[in-house]
Amino acid sequence: MLRIKNLKCSYGNIMAVQGASLSVNNGELISIIGANGSGKSTLLLAICGLLTSWEGEIIFKEKNIKGLSPPSIVKSGISMVPEGRQIFSPLSVIDNLKMGAYTMYRKGMKKEVSDDLDMIMELFPILRERANQLAGTLSGGEQQMLAIGRALMARPQLLVLDEPSMGLAPKIVDMIFGIIKNLRKEGVTILLVEQNARAALKISDRGYVLETGKIVLQGSAEELLVDDDVKRAYLGRD
Ligand code: ATP
Repeated sequence: MLRIKNLKCSYGNIMAVQGASLSVNNGELISIIGANGSGKSTLLLAICGLLTSWEGEIIFKEKNIKGLSPPSIVKSGISMVPEGRQIFSPLSVIDNLKMGAYTMYRKGMKKEVSDDLDMIMELFPILRERANQLAGTLSGGEQQMLAIGRALMARPQLLVLDEPSMGLAPKIVDMIFGIIKNLRKEGVTILLVEQNARAALKISDRGYVLETGKIVLQGSAEELLVDDDVKRAYLGRD
């Protein structure tokens, strides 16, 4: 579904991504793990069209998406849950969710949007309870659910998540990873970027390890979870 070949991204003199290649097949949950500053977010920004000055190829469903605007990339089927969630705090929960479906609204697909809202609220019952509450008043975990729900409202073929566990208590992190695992079971293709390597690999099919902008290791999640280098650098103690 997604193939990235020799991607290079820089900010001035800083080469944040230095020739990374990876692929995500239909139905897979793929993790990119790596330390702070290894280039994970930069790679995602390039995929979503939010960073334009990159070299290499990003092929989504057999089409090179270079030069497409972020809205066109969403339309083509990629939806991102950004780092820090970036929900619209002064808007209600329901309005945040509707924002995820703005292209469908513009096409007059009100019935479809309303059905999708129902589906999201079934998936996240707490969002139904809080539907009319301002999004900024939600807890961190609820905001993360809202950010995921908003991304799903665009009916993505590929869901991209940037550090969904960031700033959340361990119990809530488990819940969010449970939700991501279920989405994968339901057939959503997922690219997950995480510093929380163990939790990410535990729910993934395959993983890539990014170090200073380079993919230094890749393999099945099972392989990476028992790899000595990965254990030493990213997994710490059980
Ligand atoms: P984090 O988990 O902290 O978000 P990351 O793995 O996502 O880390 P990036 O945010 O992609 O890493 O950063 C990769 C490199 O690019 C780092 O050296 C970072 O300092 C640098 N960088 C990121 N954004 C910018 C920017 N807007 N301007 C200049 N340098 C940047």
